[in-house]
Parts: sequence; structure tokens; C-alpha cells
Amino acid sequence: MPLLGATEIRRLADELGIRPTKTLGQNFVIDGNTIRRIVAAANVSPEETVLEIGPGLGSLTLGIMDAAAKVVAVEIDPPLAKRLPQTMAEFRPGRENDLTVILSDAMKVTELPGEPTALVANLPYNVAVPVVLHLLEHFPSIRHGLVMVQDEVADRMSAGPGSKIYGVPSVKGAWYGTMRKAGVIGMNVFWPAPKIQSGLVGFTRDKDRSDAPDRKQVFAIIDAAFAQRRKTLRAALSGWAGSGVRAEQILTLAGIDPKERGEKLDIDAYIAIARAAEQVPA
Ligand code: SAM
Repeated sequence: MPLLGATEIRRLADELGIRPTKTLGQNFVIDGNTIRRIVAAANVSPEETVLEIGPGLGSLTLGIMDAAAKVVAVEIDPPLAKRLPQTMAEFRPGRENDLTVILSDAMKVTELPGEPTALVANLPYNVAVPVVLHLLEHFPSIRHGLVMVQDEVADRMSAGPGSKIYGVPSVKGAWYGTMRKAGVIGMNVFWPAPKIQSGLVGFTRDKDRSDAPDRKQVFAIIDAAFAQRRKTLRAALSGWAGSGVRAEQILTLAGIDPKERGEKLDIDAYIAIARAAEQVPA
């Protein structure tokens, strides 16, 4: 099926009278092969409903539609959201009813039609990590997905403990499942071309956290540990725990050396800290 190339993307933008804006991270994919690559890496099955964030002019939306049963697309920019059903009718006649477009900020969406099971998106780069975490939190129906983000962010999201780039996105992502780097995409497949290359991150929600302590508690510990990542956990967690003494008691009970640094711990260790905290009086 034909995908949108540079000519079609520019024609659509001209018709709408829009200029891509930096604040909304508008870099549109103008290369069909890149879209095929993203959709193939996303591993979507024909019966799935896919959530796409930021469909823009529809490059990726058409590619996802060819692989999935339905697409639910959330776009913040009114002219783009308004035009998308028409683009679908033009390029995929007969599939219009398989597309639902929601005009909204992805960070504010807490309900979606059709229980999407996958997330596939070329994300606005400035909000990529919060958007992914927000969606994984609010939509447990999403079991897997693939997102395109800044390459450096892709590395961070998929990093393991101990590496320099391991941080809050890595460990919070690991709460939900496994994140893996799935490729690098050059700058020239976009219009306008960004200044840095992009990376693909695939994820699978393969962790059951139903027996774990409250997610907010675990995330508060992660935030405290990485806010002062060069400090020992005893020092970094003293504010969260109420005192250095209590932080040390909790860490010891969790079987973690209080002199260790937060960047060395995996998500299971953070869960163990939250669990231990429930047993040490404040
Ligand atoms: N999917 C299109 C493509 O691959 O060509 C466009 C991707 S572009 C990198 C990011 C898109 O996200 C833009 O269409 C932009 O308007 C939209 N966007 C930016 N911030 C958003 C937000 N908070 N919620 C939903 N969409 C957003």
C-alpha cells in the first residue's frame, strides 16, 4: 500500500497552511521505508487496536493501519487532528471507520475507546518519556509497543543498572516491563530534519506488579535516589525516609548496602526498599 512521501507531506502541509512547529516536536516522516521498518519492528498483529500518539499528517498512521485492525490516534494540534480522517479516506478508502482521532494532549488522556493493546508512535521529543510512562500507567490494556524518540533517550530508556546513562526513565520503564533498543533512524527521513538522530525503543509489558508495593511509593524512592545520584543511598533517601537513621534501617532491612548508589540498583531493589519501608515505623 502506498505511504506518504515528501511530496504528499508537503502538499498536505500546504493545503492546511501549516508550518511544522518545534514546540510540538513536529518532524514528519517522509520516507515509506522508515515507516515500514517501524511498523515491522512494532510486531503488531492484524487483530490489534493500536494507540498512536501524535499522528501528525498521517505518515505512520497509514503504515500502522496496514498492519492492525484499528488505530486510535491522539493529536494535540487541531488542524492535524481534523485533517487525519480525510487523509485516511483518501489513501486507505474503506478504512475510515477503523480510525478514531482524539484531539487532546496525550498527557491528559485517561480514557480511550477500543482498549488498545499496542502503542506505536513517533513521539514529540520534548515529552516522550512522560508520555510513555503516563500511557503505561493509565492503560493496562497496552501490552507492547514501539516508540521513536531522540536516540539518546532511547539509550536511556533501555539502559541497565550501573551504566552512566541509567536513570529515572530506565528504572521507571522497567517497573512496567522490558524496554529494548530496536534501531537508529537518521535525520534525513524527516521534514523538517531534526538536528539529532532518532532511536527506536520496543517494549513488552511482561511484569506483573500486583503483589508489589504501591507504584507511587516506589517511584518516589526512585526520584529521591536519582535526584542526588552521586550520593550514597543513605544520604539520598534521608529526606524521603524522614531521617538518615531511618533510611539506613530501611536499606539494611531490604538487604541493600546503605553506602551503595541509586544508579546501581535495578527495579526489584527499589521495590524491596518500598516493601521494607512499610515495616520501619516513621
Ligand atoms: N506521526 C507523525 C510522523 O511520524 O510523521 C508525526 C510525528 S511528530 C514527531 C510528533 C507529533 O506529535 C506532531 O504531530 C505533534 O503535533 C504531536 N504532539 C506534540 N505534543 C503532543 C501531545 N502532548 N499530545 C499529543 N500529540 C502531540
